[in-house]
Amino acid sequence: MLLDCAIIGGGPAGLSAALVVGRGRKQVIVFDDELPRNRVTQKSHGFITNDGMTPFEIRQAGEADLQNYPHIQIKRSRIIEVQNNEENFSLLTQEGERFETKKIILATGLKDILPEMKGIHEVYGKTLFSCPFCDGWELKDRPLALIAENPRALHMAKLLSNWTKDLIVFTNGKQVFAEEEKALLSAHSIQVIDEPIMSIHHENGQMHSLHLADGETVNREGGFVASEFKQSAPFAEILGCQMTKNGGIETDILGRTTVSGVFACGDNLGGPAQLVLAAAAGSQAGMGVIHELVQEEFQEKTSL
Ligand SMILES: Cc1cc2nc3c(=O)[nH]c(=O)nc-3n(C[C@H](O)[C@H](O)[C@H](O)COP(=O)(O)OP(=O)(O)OC[C@H]3O[C@@H](n4cnc5c(N)ncnc54)[C@H](O)[C@@H]3O)c2cc1C
Repeated sequence: MLLDCAIIGGGPAGLSAALVVGRGRKQVIVFDDELPRNRVTQKSHGFITNDGMTPFEIRQAGEADLQNYPHIQIKRSRIIEVQNNEENFSLLTQEGERFETKKIILATGLKDILPEMKGIHEVYGKTLFSCPFCDGWELKDRPLALIAENPRALHMAKLLSNWTKDLIVFTNGKQVFAEEEKALLSAHSIQVIDEPIMSIHHENGQMHSLHLADGETVNREGGFVASEFKQSAPFAEILGCQMTKNGGIETDILGRTTVSGVFACGDNLGGPAQLVLAAAAGSQAGMGVIHELVQEEFQEKTSL
């Protein structure tokens, strides 16, 4: 059977896109392998009507909304190959099943790449986070660390000073600041420590200190990391979609990529990473798919 739309990724972006496409009376499948970027966190914040829910609860609520529409299917499966056959697309699941579809929405999200240091994976999502808008409130006024090995360090340090006045930036042996930037931070009582971090000490993910290469131990109750990120799935590049200079997928306001029939939405666009924004982008891409399908149906009838 030829589907109207296949969505790869069942996070807020993909589920929201599915809702719009399904309500637009088109046959749609969402493929998801259940590895969302925020699976390490216990609570999600800042998504109005969902504030404080776990990522899993938000996903469950989204999937429950989709149950009302017979045109929408969810398949817990990893897509391992996408082919552009000009007229349509062919998708292959890890289990070896093939699906043909008129349109594709890439809602595959991003992957965080954390700096290498002992203990970081244990505290990430519990007391170490990547976005102050998501978790700054929970850590407010506490002694915090910012682990930043890249040029985002200055921007993040300034931003975090809004949530705590007790902030130390750890560059983990990298020279990320110019002298005048260090002076600026120092003028705002933000210390910079360039010594490499040997390990993060914690108890069940609750950070209590950072152990440095020179033997010093610095007490910190939590913090943020300026992590690097990459696309979770290679399909945009494989299909030849134009990418932005920060590694996101380029789209227009309706989620259309530069490749005809391929749409994208959510974190993989490379903009601010927020659940509500991913859901909004999914909704836009869903509308884009419906616009295109309806337009094509009109054209087909006119050319008869
Ligand atoms: C630690 C942390 C905490 C966060 N906390 C918050 C918060 O409190 N509030 C907030 O608003 N935002 C938060 N975020 C950001 C939020 O997680 C993202 O903005 C949001 O998840 C993006 O949604 P998405 O649908 O684009 O991607 P995701 O939620 O990452 O979903 C993408 C889905 O695609 C699937 N997928 C990928 N490739 C394939 C494939 N080949 N086949 C099948 N499925 C595939 C993945 O398994 C995943 O389920 C946090 C992020 C992190 C890292």
